[in-house]
Amino acid sequence: MKYQVNQDGYYGNYGGAFIPEALAPIIGQLQREYISIIEQEDFQKEMAQLLEDYVGRPTPLYFAKGLSEKYSTKVYLKREDLCHTGAHKINNTIGQILLAKRLGKNKIVAETGAGQHGVATATVCALMGMECIVYMGALDIERQAPNVARMKMLGAEVRPAESGAKTLKEAVDEALLYWIENPDDTFYLIGSAVGPHPYPDMVSRFQSIISKEIRKQLLAKEGREEPDYVVACVGGGSNAVGAFYHFLENEQVKLIVAEGGGEGADSPKTAATSFVGKEGVLHGSKTLFMQDEQGEPLEAYSVSAGLDYPGFGPLYAHMKELGRAEFFAIKDDEAMNAGLALCKVEGIIPAIESSHALAVLDQRKFKPEDVVVINLSGRGDKDLDNYRSYFNF
Ligand SMILES: *Cc1c(COP(=O)(O)O)cnc(C)c1O
Repeated sequence: MKYQVNQDGYYGNYGGAFIPEALAPIIGQLQREYISIIEQEDFQKEMAQLLEDYVGRPTPLYFAKGLSEKYSTKVYLKREDLCHTGAHKINNTIGQILLAKRLGKNKIVAETGAGQHGVATATVCALMGMECIVYMGALDIERQAPNVARMKMLGAEVRPAESGAKTLKEAVDEALLYWIENPDDTFYLIGSAVGPHPYPDMVSRFQSIISKEIRKQLLAKEGREEPDYVVACVGGGSNAVGAFYHFLENEQVKLIVAEGGGEGADSPKTAATSFVGKEGVLHGSKTLFMQDEQGEPLEAYSVSAGLDYPGFGPLYAHMKELGRAEFFAIKDDEAMNAGLALCKVEGIIPAIESSHALAVLDQRKFKPEDVVVINLSGRGDKDLDNYRSYFNF
């Protein structure tokens, strides 16, 4: 299994767990226990039930007739935008909160950048009756008022991170500090396929429901379980790994990653990690990320809040090294236009993150008989202000 973590939590040369001494006992326990807990029958049953009745799974695999005609190939959209709360993130937060419960924790701490992960976390905490503390950069709190309001309505406590640039990095630091000080009753719920082992693998397993459903749905629609291509956007990599998971080891299925190119991979305003990232340790694992001479993470930029992360999960560094995926740096305007095109052709308003995946259709030719599955990671309601000011509606 080339694309699964080994015993030590590495995907090839990337991954591992680079953590402060104080976290070694709790992360060690998690490393030892997560697989056996996730594989228990009652865990699987509870998770499946919630995914069906609460999240609304399975999400449709929709044959996009308009897009298919436009690009002369067979395009299917995996409709994660139809999940409760509007994106794939809830697949993971449901899994992690069930795990936290079984580890005997009653409090959840999380960090959030634009607030999407904070909302998905606050949602499942309300559902499970758990206390929820979300750290968010003070600047982000100002910029993302609707998500702050959502978290508060859902009963979460939103704590501002006031140091440094007052954005995601500071929120991560403070959430980790809180965890170090409260290890016994608190679980740290990470929102993407990043962080120290076992988080990237754990998040991948929880999101793998996406490709499990794709196989079954494609069999019914095309008479085969495997598409020719799967396309997904990558911020940290959770929706993409979900869409890729059951195809990773089968190299007949080609994988395509769309990153936030911002103003271009050759400009300083970008989030295109695979083009400009260098090796190093970010958020507890060895991966590629955009860094300065001293190895400090640079601020990433993308029009999409979910993609403006300076690195990506260790699996993507490994895939890059082995050539397992094609990487595209999609520029802001290419994504915005692809998003608007989907509205006109299919009547679906996508999240700007997902618009990056859609833009691959403009940049790469597919054959008429190719089956191309695009993961539509979320819906665009949260991005209306952004679309509106961009297109002057
Ligand atoms: C958060 C988010 C992303 C980016 O996160 P990944 O972990 O890379 O999936 C992509 N799409 C949507 C809709 C999001 O909310």
